[in-house]
Amino acid sequence: MRPYGYTTNQRTECIDDELEKGRAAAAQFLDQDGTTLRGLVSEWNVRGYKTVTGRDWTEPTMRRMFLNPANAGLLPDGRPAPWPAMFDPETHRRLVEKLTDPDRRNGVDLEGRVYLLTGDERAVCALCGKALSAHPTTPGVRSYACMTGRRTGGCGKIRVQADGLEKHVATQVLARIAKDMDGPGAILRAHEKLGIDAARAREQARSAQEAAKTMAGEFAAGNASKEAYLQVAAHAERLAAESADLTRLAAVELPTTIDDIANWWNHASVEDQRVLVDIFIERVYVGSATARGSRTFDEKRVTIAWR
Ligand SMILES: [Zn+2]
Repeated sequence: MRPYGYTTNQRTECIDDELEKGRAAAAQFLDQDGTTLRGLVSEWNVRGYKTVTGRDWTEPTMRRMFLNPANAGLLPDGRPAPWPAMFDPETHRRLVEKLTDPDRRNGVDLEGRVYLLTGDERAVCALCGKALSAHPTTPGVRSYACMTGRRTGGCGKIRVQADGLEKHVATQVLARIAKDMDGPGAILRAHEKLGIDAARAREQARSAQEAAKTMAGEFAAGNASKEAYLQVAAHAERLAAESADLTRLAAVELPTTIDDIANWWNHASVEDQRVLVDIFIERVYVGSATARGSRTFDEKRVTIAWR
């Protein structure tokens, strides 16, 4: 099967129209705020663009096109390839950065492992205030790090092993719930609120979906521009994604009595544990290591801002 943008597997000859479409999509994805992979895919399908096998585009196919080094004119070993590139090296670098960004992966690092304190800037660098990223130093060792770079803009001075930090935070949360007579009550109220928020989000997503359907009809009848339709459709997709997230969170079963809590924690998935942490903790500040090379986790590095 030929790659998109080229007539043969060896990329001996390119198809300018397809290369241009790929470039325009990359520019939109990188530089137009709020553009998602999902939105781009539905835009391409609305426009009638097809893959090389004549099918509709999907998120994985577009993701592969964006991430494939060959499309940036690179051989597998990184040397320049003899064919004309779809993306220049800088665009390719930004695509890789954006598509493999820890925040977009919902707390999963490049090795597919889950982190308790990523997302919503839960864990932040005490020195510069930027969110810590899930970032393994050595393969197999989960770590949080303050990352320098244009997108993250951190100071790069803080790095902490995830196991020690997460265990400390978990202990603090469980102790807090147990100490507070109203611990389970607070969980119940937060959970109820999640349910209400999710129901409201579903309602908003439904009406946005209706508006998009109406707009599709208007567009088909020639009464609305393609741009206007795509804008309404993208808005509906965004609300649908938000509502799906909230619905998932509201469906998590949380502990209801003090006695349940430790047991619940030990058996919960990290995603579910995160819901409980979010109810009680606003931020976790991680400061510099004081004792160098210490084997045990230094709790003095951590300051928790409770809700
Ligand atoms: Zn920092």
